[in-house]
Amino acid sequence: MGEEKLKKNHLAIVLGIGLGVVLLIVLSLILTIVISRRDRQSFLKSKKDPSERLRKLDKVSPTCTLEKWWATTKGNLGLSEAVDGQFVCAVCLEQVDRTQEIRELLCLHVFHRECLEKWFLGDHYNCPLCHRAYYVSDTPPTNDYVWMV
Ligand SMILES: [Zn+2]
Ligand SMILES: [Zn+2]
Repeated sequence: MGEEKLKKNHLAIVLGIGLGVVLLIVLSLILTIVISRRDRQSFLKSKKDPSERLRKLDKVSPTCTLEKWWATTKGNLGLSEAVDGQFVCAVCLEQVDRTQEIRELLCLHVFHRECLEKWFLGDHYNCPLCHRAYYVSDTPPTNDYVWMV
């Protein structure tokens, strides 16, 4: 009779340990899911942070007013005063005013500052006009248009 009781006690201990182990596994699983989801959220957040990304754009595409840009470019190209800058932004197809801020790309094409920022934030890393790549992404692009050039 006493042996039977001992057996039951033993069973209870084994069951208890087993339940504890199962509980631990479930808990660690939940924790892993929560952590990975939080990681993904912070990843998405960093990807969506425009100011951080625009700082990268600043490195490859400086901003200035069209007036200022034209003054230096005209001199560099050796154009006469008679040739005046008439620019149409290829993104919005509207004329760029002299006082508006522009972004210049490596290929010397210029666009409205906001237009190119929108273009860049949409994961387009090539010039809207000549399709030359102006920026190399450190993350794989979600839009593979850039690789078709
Ligand atoms: Zn524009
Ligand atoms: Zn271009």
